[in-house]
Amino acid sequence: MTKVHHLNCGSLCPFGRLWLNGEGHWSERGHLCCHCLLIETDHGLVLVDTGLGRDDLRQPYTRLGFLSYWALAPENRPELTAIAQIEALGFSAKDVRHILLTHLDLDHAGGLADFPDAEVHIHRSEWKAAMQPSLHDRGRYRAPQWSHRPRWSLHETGGDQWRGLQSIQAIPGTDDQILLIPLHGHTQGHCGIAVNTDSGWLLHAGDAYFHREEMQFPAHCPVGLNVLQRLMQTDAQARLHNQALLRYLNAQHDDVHLFCAHDPIELQQSQQRAAR
Ligand SMILES: [Zn+2]
Repeated sequence: MTKVHHLNCGSLCPFGRLWLNGEGHWSERGHLCCHCLLIETDHGLVLVDTGLGRDDLRQPYTRLGFLSYWALAPENRPELTAIAQIEALGFSAKDVRHILLTHLDLDHAGGLADFPDAEVHIHRSEWKAAMQPSLHDRGRYRAPQWSHRPRWSLHETGGDQWRGLQSIQAIPGTDDQILLIPLHGHTQGHCGIAVNTDSGWLLHAGDAYFHREEMQFPAHCPVGLNVLQRLMQTDAQARLHNQALLRYLNAQHDDVHLFCAHDPIELQQSQQRAAR
């Protein structure tokens, strides 16, 4: 049913390559990607996460906030936005019918305004947290990114299971198997997104983990990414519990290809896999 493109919709270059990427020197800039999915289905395009949008690059201080812009140091490359890549594939913004978001952090929701007609699917608790942010969350959620009033579709955890995890059918009324997988902890309503493709399942884990070696036994994470995850988390226990579940899923289910949002090596591997 589905053709899936693995897109990089943002290039983040904070200082501290050694601490972020586990290689190079600490004084060099690191590189984190914004791994998004574009899914071609029988009923239009589905986008999983949006990365940074056109307006984020045009007005970074207003849209991202001074501190986040300085800390994340995104490259100003409009050709990386989801809308630019979708147009380069011969589609238009209107072809994107549904957007599924792992969460509403500014590096995941920035492209929403480039697709004003799309229905935006998200866990209800994430939406609530973003609309009335706590003191801890005030910097990460950026109201200008949804000031165009998206058509929200809010989902709640039911009793369905997928590979031992909770799951929610994101787009009811279609044959597509695209599931929200609640993986709370990084944010209040953070979810992974599972997609059934012709060659097995994909699980986009969003920011449930940040580095590929966190999914191995023994788990390892470069020190800077580890600190970043701790600073950003809203529930440490839930985040670590979900990481453990994902680690076991990764080891036990060969038919599931797991990746997170910001690891450039995982992005490269996913693109190579899709091209085979
Ligand atoms: Zn992120």
